[in-house]
Amino acid sequence: MLEGLTPPAKIPPCMIRTVMSNLDGDDQRILREALADHDAWSHKGLARALTERGLPLGEKILRERRNKPCADCVCR
Ligand SMILES: [Zn+2]
Repeated sequence: MLEGLTPPAKIPPCMIRTVMSNLDGDDQRILREALADHDAWSHKGLARALTERGLPLGEKILRERRNKPCADCVCR
């Protein structure tokens, strides 16, 4: 009865994915574009703008994820 027993997929926690999952489609797209636009948005500037709108994404999280996104994640 235990054929095919495999450990659950390991999904590392990601604040960007958590925040993204609470946004609607338009907001997800806007956030993804902002994350990808390193010229227009510094980590600090984007963190401030997002925090002002109530999204808990700080400069440190943005820097880490923009420089080193997790595998198979919306933060890519
Ligand atoms: Zn991620």
